[in-house]
Amino acid sequence: MQALRKVAAQGGVTLEEVPDPKRPEGTDVVVEVAAVGICGSDLHVDDWTPGYEFMTDLLPVTLGHEFAGRVTAVGPDVTQLAVGDRVAVMPAAPCHACPACRAGDSEKCQNKQTLGLYRDGAFAGKVLARASGCLPIPDALDFELAALTEPLAVAATAVRVGGVGQGDRVVVLGPGIIGQAVAIFARLSGAAEVAICGFDDALRLDACRSLGFERLYDLAEDGTRERLMAEMGGADLVFEATGQSISVTDGLALLRMEGILVMLGIHCRDAQFSATDFVRRRLQIRASHSSRRREWTRVIDAMARDPELFRKMISHRLPLNEAVRGFGLAHEKAASKVMIFPN
Ligand SMILES: [Zn+2]
Ligand SMILES: [Zn+2]
Repeated sequence: MQALRKVAAQGGVTLEEVPDPKRPEGTDVVVEVAAVGICGSDLHVDDWTPGYEFMTDLLPVTLGHEFAGRVTAVGPDVTQLAVGDRVAVMPAAPCHACPACRAGDSEKCQNKQTLGLYRDGAFAGKVLARASGCLPIPDALDFELAALTEPLAVAATAVRVGGVGQGDRVVVLGPGIIGQAVAIFARLSGAAEVAICGFDDALRLDACRSLGFERLYDLAEDGTRERLMAEMGGADLVFEATGQSISVTDGLALLRMEGILVMLGIHCRDAQFSATDFVRRRLQIRASHSSRRREWTRVIDAMARDPELFRKMISHRLPLNEAVRGFGLAHEKAASKVMIFPN
């Protein structure tokens, strides 16, 4: 089968021929990949920006962690899944050895190993996954929507971490898929106003508009930063979904007294902010990373209720042999979600 892989500790990804996954053992299953999304972290791995050095000893690795498909083989110890089941797959596998895992709270595992980063992922015809990570999807959800579950659950988890409530004024920095999804789940959680900011981001801000958001700011345009501050200053919550260190400074400046900045972008530089202002205004910074199982269930329910809203987040659909072009589109911010169909 073909697979899109990281083969060397330098920039670039490679489409190459690899063997099919071996017969699943124990509680593993083989999933035939129906749809897999290109994620911002895949772009980081492609560029080989700092933060992914842990992959060096594991290469070559097939990328791809946002996916859904059909189970085609099950290991001898699998009881809750059968061949033919349609599933979305939680890509992060707990280690079962760290203190959190041994205490039965594997969602706090410190050594989670994610498919598509630590082990071969889903930019391929088939992928070996663990049965406990497979969530059956309802008939109302087709595979391309089911493949959105992972990034949407990352966003829904961040909205829960921030504690968005009725009437809140919320600013989302970053109009990519994660930012768009944070905005949607903030709105579903009762936020009264949701603003979304980009930087030289006309296409993705248009995507936000099509999702029903009107307070949109392109900070590359003259005077927009001032307009944002005038219209949304004193926000209850700011979500930082850009990975740019300037967003931390901007985000804190937008908050009201005791406001909360939730950081979920992956940063390749350290952030700087005024500690004195931070303390005097009693601001809070919270981190959200990855997702929890209950958020997966919530996201699947939300998509099944309003599939056409979420479908608007998918801007491009490509076969696997055009995945490199898809990476290019995502890099240039010329796409929202690029969905790859390997089979
Ligand atoms: Zn992702
Ligand atoms: Zn663990």
